[in-house]
Amino acid sequence: MTKYPKQILQIIQTSRDHLTAEQIFQELKQIYPAVVRATVYNNLHKLWESGAIRKVVLEGQPDRYDRLERHDHLVCKECGRLSDVTLSDLTRQLEEQLGMPILSYDLKMTYLCEACKNKQKEERT
Ligand SMILES: [Zn+2]
Ligand SMILES: [Zn+2]
Repeated sequence: MTKYPKQILQIIQTSRDHLTAEQIFQELKQIYPAVVRATVYNNLHKLWESGAIRKVVLEGQPDRYDRLERHDHLVCKECGRLSDVTLSDLTRQLEEQLGMPILSYDLKMTYLCEACKNKQKEERT
């Protein structure tokens, strides 16, 4: 039973797809056919609570899980596609403006992805 958290953590750390709990469940099921959904959800919650993984919350979409390694996110306003970007660490600047230390920050920038930009262009012509 205790092998699941490790496997879940590994799936999240090696994926760049920002998997939902359901997708993680499906992936784990291929390795351990006996695994049940509730186990995955519980483990995800515990991993997140203990600070081992990040959760990406997007309006109108199921929560997605992400590795801890520092990076920021670009979200397409149209299709919800989530991409990783690495910007320089803004912690110092934010702390300076706030006048106090912070633990972390969560930067999510919205944009129009290439596919949606092209689609809009087509629709206009
Ligand atoms: Zn898009
Ligand atoms: Zn990410």
